[in-house]
Amino acid sequence: MHITSHVSTNPQPTTHSTDIPSNFKSAIQGGTVLKRGAKGALVKELQNLLNEAGANPKLVADGDFGRGTENALKIFQRQHNLTTDGKFGRGTLAKLEIALQTAATDHADHSHDDHDHSVTTGVSTRTTGSTSIGGRLMSAVDGGQVLKRGAKGTTVKELQQLLNRAGASPALTADGDFGRGTENAVKAFQRKHGLGADGKFGRGTLAKLKEVLQLGVGTSPNGGTTVDNNNGGTTVDNNNGDTTVDNNNGGTNTTNDGVGQAIENQLGVFGGSLRRGGKGNAVRELQTLLNRAGANPKLTADGDFGRGTENAVKAFQRKHGLGADGKFGKGTWAALKKELGVDFKASDPLSDAGLSGTASTHYAYKKGKRLGKIQVVRIDGKPVEINTARSFLKMREAAQKDGVNIKINSGFRSYEEQKRLYDLYKAGRGNLAARPGYSNHQHGPAVDLNTRDPKVLRWLNKNGKKFGFVRTVPSEPWHWEYRP
Ligand SMILES: [Zn+2]
Repeated sequence: MHITSHVSTNPQPTTHSTDIPSNFKSAIQGGTVLKRGAKGALVKELQNLLNEAGANPKLVADGDFGRGTENALKIFQRQHNLTTDGKFGRGTLAKLEIALQTAATDHADHSHDDHDHSVTTGVSTRTTGSTSIGGRLMSAVDGGQVLKRGAKGTTVKELQQLLNRAGASPALTADGDFGRGTENAVKAFQRKHGLGADGKFGRGTLAKLKEVLQLGVGTSPNGGTTVDNNNGGTTVDNNNGDTTVDNNNGGTNTTNDGVGQAIENQLGVFGGSLRRGGKGNAVRELQTLLNRAGANPKLTADGDFGRGTENAVKAFQRKHGLGADGKFGKGTWAALKKELGVDFKASDPLSDAGLSGTASTHYAYKKGKRLGKIQVVRIDGKPVEINTARSFLKMREAAQKDGVNIKINSGFRSYEEQKRLYDLYKAGRGNLAARPGYSNHQHGPAVDLNTRDPKVLRWLNKNGKKFGFVRTVPSEPWHWEYRP
């Protein structure tokens, strides 16, 4: 479950004007799913609630679940990272409840406090929950910057991510490069909301985007972050002593200063464990958290996993009835999070790139045999199997930091695509291509990369393995496979 909390600097308690009627709530929680074709009082209530949550255009609350209601529901689901199936069940109810509470508290705050709590500076969007994206964009645009064709950087990347959440179709690749696709998406957004469709992103368009996405929640004004907490409560940054937390869902609040996010990112995305000999930020966080959990003797948080840290991990494991192997993997991490009452959401490269929820499903083939179905997303227009894509995006980002731009020339090929290439080849109009079903680009792990650039090849030879990418065809330096 993804819970967002509203963080306010206002010491007055806030009120919630929007309540979901209990009979409606219990029907949905009891398993009723509302979908196209449904009729009656529950549908009417749903239409009213969607309107309150900002459905645009507003729905006529006629109790008839038609195309308009379905579209409004899909937009809501997309905006809240839910499966966009246009069906209203428990999951969407939970989000709707939060959205309505958030809208109500937002309104209450702004009636006597003109501060815009949504502006957050200095927060890394890499490590914050999905509600926190947009801080830099808002600071820049509220400060007078106008983003347009040719602009580049983090603010553009955030804009692309937010446009995707607002339903950009086709979804944009969040590459931080304001090109024609981004311009078209801005224009489409402007047209849809009655703004001048000039394709430039300034204050007016930002205001509308904030309204549509109900931004301005989830980040605290001092740059703290909101993270998921799967016990139903909310976890907020509270280390400046003046932040109040509005929480009416009966959960618990725990103090959380973000220490642990690096561990989550590492274990959550790559799996494995932190162990003797390991170094870096995740190890430093581990040492800090073990101290908080009562490590004795206290560890020096130096980011170096030596004998002392290993002993502390073993002691913690013994205390919690875990195998005391001194390796800090997912199981031990779960126990430590539980003991400290904190939780985190791993940064997911797919969602950071605005690609979560965009996968399509295809059959995989190997050596002429049809295997199961796999999920495929598009990176820069190239289809890539979803797990390969996740690691590729991580790798591409790391390479970018070294000034190297890795590009995919060919990724996953569906049966139809391979057949097309093979037919072209047979007709003498295309490159050598394997028979359909026999290409190693048809089962997921293969990507052809731009290794004609010697910098790219050198970087991959040195670093590819860290991300699970290896060469498998000696004569083809461009052909890499994800074999973690
Ligand atoms: Zn290849």
